[in-house]
Amino acid sequence: MRIDLHAHSNASDGTDSPAELVAAAVGAGLDVVALTDHDTVAGHTEAADAVHALPSGTRLTLVPGAELSCVAGDISMHLLAYLFDPAEPAFAAERELVRTDRFRRGRAIVERCRELGADISWEQVRRIAGEGSVGRPHIASALVEAGVVASVSDAFTPDWLANGGRADVRKHETDPVTAVRLVRAAGGVPVFAHPGAVKRGRTVSDQVVADLAAAGLAALEVDHVDHDEPTRARLRGLAAELGLLTTGSSDYHGGRKTVRLGEHTTDPEVYAALVEQATGAKPIGG
Ligand code: AMP
Ligand code: FE
Ligand code: FE
Ligand code: ZN
Repeated sequence: MRIDLHAHSNASDGTDSPAELVAAAVGAGLDVVALTDHDTVAGHTEAADAVHALPSGTRLTLVPGAELSCVAGDISMHLLAYLFDPAEPAFAAERELVRTDRFRRGRAIVERCRELGADISWEQVRRIAGEGSVGRPHIASALVEAGVVASVSDAFTPDWLANGGRADVRKHETDPVTAVRLVRAAGGVPVFAHPGAVKRGRTVSDQVVADLAAAGLAALEVDHVDHDEPTRARLRGLAAELGLLTTGSSDYHGGRKTVRLGEHTTDPEVYAALVEQATGAKPIGG
């Protein structure tokens, strides 16, 4: 079983449509793929339709999910949520709040970039983002189009879009203990995404992870492209100490990042345990 529990479509900052992501998952030989767009479930229906339309003999299970933008103190972090009820009002309202604030903040970042001499526009960013939940990667693509930087990852430096960088502007982000409770109350399963991704900025203390565990966190995403081996070992130890499961996933973003779908995967027993905990939705297809 090849199980990848973290992938983005163009409903947020990936480049594949949800249907293309499903096709890519089949192409990558995956048995299970989770669709985890930032702060939105807008891709779920298209992805589910694509799974149902797969030829008989092709088996793929889709895990509907999302990746929530959170902030612990002043440290941004991401919480994956799987198999929650998308209609549950409290959690839906919080996702809506973050998505709406992404527009205000996107405009402000574009303004900062222009002040810093980059010839990009909000219309251009809106065109790049399409219907997607607007984020810095779309602005990074605009900076690439304008010839300001050579690649999306080159835009995530202190000169431009990195956390605390010259053109970074903060958005509304949810307190992670609140987020864990919202996900559980919607029948979902919360997993801390790339908790040791130091290249993205500061990471939270073990105490914060312990607080999240006490609030109902299910697992740490350990095998991730942004974690080196010592970081993975440390996170495995912390998970064992706190009684948390550990997952692995690609965090695929299509052409916007170089990571391949299925580059990291989750153990089937861990996947089964996560599904067992969910009451808000069921995996689709397979
Ligand atoms: P936002 O959600 O708008 O705050 O943007 C965060 C997104 O930017 C993350 O989900 C990643 O897709 C991307 N990102 C963050 N840090 C980096 C980095 N160092 N290199 C490339 N992409 C990054
Ligand atoms: Fe992203
Ligand atoms: Fe993330
Ligand atoms: Zn992600």
